[in-house]
Amino acid sequence: MSEISVKEYVKRQEELEDEANKLMPYDPSHCTYSMGPIRQPIFACRTCNSIGVCYSCSIQCHSTCDLVELFDKRNFSCDCGTERQFEHGEKFTPCNIRKNTTPDIPDMSNRYGQNFKGLFCSCHREYDPNTTTTMLQCVLGLECNEDWFHDHCILGIEENPDPVTEDRKLPGFPELSSFEGFISWVCIDKYSSIFEKLLSHEACDKIIAHKVYRRDLVSDQNSEGMTLESTKKRGLEEMENSSGSYSLFLKEGYREEFKRLRDSLPEGDSLKSFFMHTAPFLTCEEKVYEPPEEQEQGSLVEMGETALAQNLSHQQTLASLVAFQQIKSKLTDFLRPFAENDKVVSESDIKQFFDTQKK
Ligand SMILES: [Zn+2]
Ligand SMILES: [Zn+2]
Ligand SMILES: [Zn+2]
Ligand SMILES: [Zn+2]
Repeated sequence: MSEISVKEYVKRQEELEDEANKLMPYDPSHCTYSMGPIRQPIFACRTCNSIGVCYSCSIQCHSTCDLVELFDKRNFSCDCGTERQFEHGEKFTPCNIRKNTTPDIPDMSNRYGQNFKGLFCSCHREYDPNTTTTMLQCVLGLECNEDWFHDHCILGIEENPDPVTEDRKLPGFPELSSFEGFISWVCIDKYSSIFEKLLSHEACDKIIAHKVYRRDLVSDQNSEGMTLESTKKRGLEEMENSSGSYSLFLKEGYREEFKRLRDSLPEGDSLKSFFMHTAPFLTCEEKVYEPPEEQEQGSLVEMGETALAQNLSHQQTLASLVAFQQIKSKLTDFLRPFAENDKVVSESDIKQFFDTQKK
């Protein structure tokens, strides 16, 4: 076969598009800047002043940049093309979606922390996609800025040096299926009197799945930290009797229970006002902005599975999608005159098109 019709070509193109939609189910054509501060998936761009940008901008405006996926951040407004991107005198470039002609005014509610430099947890490390270490995001986040924490850092012990296996278990770390939410010791330390009050309330049985102390109390003099072995020797019971920093693991349905507790407390109670004013998001389902889906979308689970199966990092997934989007629009431009004149596209035309793309 030396010639294919535009119709056939379009069909092939649609199949290709379906493939891409399975990888990235969202339509990356709306920047969330105009929506103001919302909870949404954010990407940090380490090339552009470590600003946080929305999903669409990560694809349309920063595809060739050094991006770090931060997942959901609360009260965050896209900083692509705002003054924050150019605050060190960088040359102005507009947001490709908003096509602004001057830098837009950044929202003041954005909180920038170590995550935007690609660092996570109390150990300030970069995310390592090659380990199976569990990382949990703090659902309170007031002090830690919704940071992510390693399981071993939550326990205050060294990373497990054993070869990583599927059923790797960290002694003393709760089963992932036994809780729905996690509050870091960093945030609890900051609001310790509030959490003492919570823990002494009878409702806490319905809310708290585990209270897990950090075991670094002894290790202050010993910068190496405690090893897994010494942790095993000390045993769990002793740990439970320790005092000091601890994290909380919350039972399924904790938001409903927090709301019930809030409503049962008298006016002027400090725990009530914490739920009313300081962390109201703990007592309701938080709305997370999702970019509009493309028509024939695959599920996020499928997307994750595909990416895993192909052993792609998000960066690579993103890069291949961007390449696909770019080629798709160029190919459409290339094919337009053929379609308009009802001409037949030959394989050599297509070959020529892809040859010019390689250059
Ligand atoms: Zn944006
Ligand atoms: Zn960038
Ligand atoms: Zn943009
Ligand atoms: Zn860590």
